[in-house]
Amino acid sequence: MNGMDELLTASAAEMAALLASRQISSVELTQAHLDRIAEVDCAVHAFLQTLPEVALAEARAADAARAAGEDLPELAGVPIAVKDVLATKGLRTTCGSKILENWIPAYDATVVKKVRQARLPVLGKTNMDEFAMGSSTEHSAYGPTRNPWDLARVPGGSGGGSAAAVGAFEAPLALGSDTGGSIRQPAALTGTVGAKPTYGGVSRFGLVAMASSLDQVGPVARRVLDAALLHAVIGGHDPKDQTSLNSPVPPVAAAARQGLAGDIKGLRIGVVAELGGRGYQPGVLDRFSEALTILEGLGASVIPVSCPSFKFALPAYYLIMPSEASSNLARFDAMRYGIRVEPATGPITVETVMGATREAGFGDEVKRRIILGTYALSAGYYDAYYGNAQKVRTLIQQDFENAWEDVDVLVSPTSPTTAFKLGEKLDDPLAMYLQDVATIPVNLAGIPGISVPGGLAEDGLPTGVQILAPARADAFLYQVAGALEAALEAKWGGPLLDQAPGILGQGGAAGAAPGTGGGPISEGGVL
Ligand code: GLN
Repeated sequence: MNGMDELLTASAAEMAALLASRQISSVELTQAHLDRIAEVDCAVHAFLQTLPEVALAEARAADAARAAGEDLPELAGVPIAVKDVLATKGLRTTCGSKILENWIPAYDATVVKKVRQARLPVLGKTNMDEFAMGSSTEHSAYGPTRNPWDLARVPGGSGGGSAAAVGAFEAPLALGSDTGGSIRQPAALTGTVGAKPTYGGVSRFGLVAMASSLDQVGPVARRVLDAALLHAVIGGHDPKDQTSLNSPVPPVAAAARQGLAGDIKGLRIGVVAELGGRGYQPGVLDRFSEALTILEGLGASVIPVSCPSFKFALPAYYLIMPSEASSNLARFDAMRYGIRVEPATGPITVETVMGATREAGFGDEVKRRIILGTYALSAGYYDAYYGNAQKVRTLIQQDFENAWEDVDVLVSPTSPTTAFKLGEKLDDPLAMYLQDVATIPVNLAGIPGISVPGGLAEDGLPTGVQILAPARADAFLYQVAGALEAALEAKWGGPLLDQAPGILGQGGAAGAAPGTGGGPISEGGVL
């Protein structure tokens, strides 16, 4: 493939098969990805921190376990990237914020522990909007991540680092977190796959909280089966997370395989009338209707569905999320975590140090949301804002409940547009918030959702198709996503990422300046 190592472009499942048959070692596979990161990440800036020594030690351990005949999980030895919102023991965890620039957690997040136990070497920590607030990764305190399809464009957010790492073949798998769309929207904008599991299906222990009733950790991958295999590794009950569901992980990998074999006959697929039409880019809508035709051709029935309360989802989210965030972020008080800044003038008191630290440590978007959330929760306004938003949340949940009486899954475009240019929406928070108009209702209802590549829009950039299922029915996501992926890849003659301009080539990034994504910007992928 244009000279790029075929090992890097394989799916995670294919890599796992090569490892199982001892055709490659985890050390070779991990080293190949570290080399790729060294070659292209100066241009993409998907990583805030790479961990070559840690990853290679873990790879050696995976190889040794295999040599010793241990019974290993399917993905053992396949490397992974981890969003920097997840605590990693002994390794800096910044959440994309200056306030945590020196925080070294004393423990692993449960999902990190699980991937380590399953023997997936951790390549590094990926870039993100500060505290996962944003849709472009431009709100990172450490500089933006760029979209591998076009380095002048954003990869989406907040998990743009994880999506770009996977899309640029720097990692076959990644972990993300999704509060309002931060796994699914970057997946759509980078031509990758991202899933938000049922709320409680994957542990939040060690995930730095933004909005606790909405946050969920999930898999990022290039292919549907890979995402399902990773979902199976990280899912399941965790006594350390009080909202963790005490039920087994749904049979997601089996469902993905069933779907990839084209088996979705008889499934009832609802199309949400409110998630489409005005405000959506024509090319996004075209690819979405083609996907519907494909699903119908495979024997599913496609049924129009109306969810009238969805029009209030965005305003309700932007009251509930900042309210919870303003409370969660109160812990960054200069005493317990992160940096401590003393005021330049005046007395040194608890209040003045706290104020100076938060002023210096938080970026504009985080401050905006803390102010909004504190206002919405204040006495006299609580019922009018937070209380009413919670009522809207109930109405949205009822819309979904009504829909499940008639359909098994719901579908929509993941994001209304393709990847936009860096800087384009940075000074317009409302335009940025609108990126998540189709993903937010899912978090408000706690149900699972996945985004799969839908093909290229009129501008030659990737689009995403979103599939939603009832709580705990995550398997349906992978079945329908698998069927769609198989049919579309047959049409395209391979995965969508194969069509990325220059993405599989070599050397283009060699001229980019090293550092924090500040290399020369060129139109078109330079990879
Ligand atoms: N983009 C949305 C926001 O800014 C969602 C973020 C997320 O899912 N973490 O809040």
